[in-house]
Amino acid sequence: MTELVEGSRDSYQPTIDDGVVTYPAVEETLIDEGGQSKEALESLTERGILERTFEGKVYTCPECLEGRMTYTTACPKCQSLYIVDTELLKCGGCGRTAPPEEFESDGGEVVCHGCGSTAESIDQLERTSRYRCHDCGEQHETPAHALRCENRAGHRAGGFACDPHDAIEHALFQYRLGESGEPWLETQLRARRTIADALADRGYVVEQDATVTADSGTRHRLHVHATDELLGKGAIAAVHEQPTVNDVDSLEATAEELSAQALLVPTLGIVDEQVVNRAEQADVRIVTVTDEGNIEREYEVSENLSDDRSFLGRLTSSLR
Ligand SMILES: [Zn+2]
Ligand SMILES: [Zn+2]
Ligand SMILES: [Zn+2]
Repeated sequence: MTELVEGSRDSYQPTIDDGVVTYPAVEETLIDEGGQSKEALESLTERGILERTFEGKVYTCPECLEGRMTYTTACPKCQSLYIVDTELLKCGGCGRTAPPEEFESDGGEVVCHGCGSTAESIDQLERTSRYRCHDCGEQHETPAHALRCENRAGHRAGGFACDPHDAIEHALFQYRLGESGEPWLETQLRARRTIADALADRGYVVEQDATVTADSGTRHRLHVHATDELLGKGAIAAVHEQPTVNDVDSLEATAEELSAQALLVPTLGIVDEQVVNRAEQADVRIVTVTDEGNIEREYEVSENLSDDRSFLGRLTSSLR
């Protein structure tokens, strides 16, 4: 989001990985949340934080799940792809259509090999075009539509093609900064800054957006990480629009590993009752940041804020 607001990134672009649409730049950020970049972007779009534009569709292979599909024609009768739009000549006698070589006799005279009727020259025959299958010999006015897998290595000799309906369709979207994007980001960052400044005022050495490796080797990504060399006990803070029980669980575990006091900052100022109870148990302190930049211990407690306890659920449910 910072990249979008500052303009170093224009949008989030899709790629297809293993037959699934993903957004690598987002995937990286969500690594601790288990990926799901598309769902995350969608929920941010619902909130107006991002704006979505349709970029087109791609089709991937239903067989190898990897290859992109490209359009091809196929023989409606034998499914061979070796069916080519060919210019043919039409016999005035029997109406048969055939390539020029099937109208010539050895003497240079034009004879229909079907009905034996003759013409003075080949130019007298009507020209027409047909899709001619080189495998079964059939001609068709319109060929069948098919999609062919580009991943030749993923299939046995001859490759793979299928009816377009059988390929996997992916709609691709680009996500840009939405109308609420900038204020939303500012709220999140301001909460982090306020907490960081307050801890710095208390003499801590403070880092924002820190990645800390604990003694156990576990890497923790923290919104605010404050350390106190003298006393040993530090503080960590997590800023969430609408924190979940999972957030408290992970804060508790991180705080224990880093021997720090944990702070949880709900930026909407509303916290689910279950989250409040869990935070009390876990010795995670819930604090809010006021518009004036003060830190308070007051917040609203709500029952069943959302049944969906997922990362995405809390993003989508938070502004109703
Ligand atoms: Zn394939
Ligand atoms: Zn004929
Ligand atoms: Zn055929």
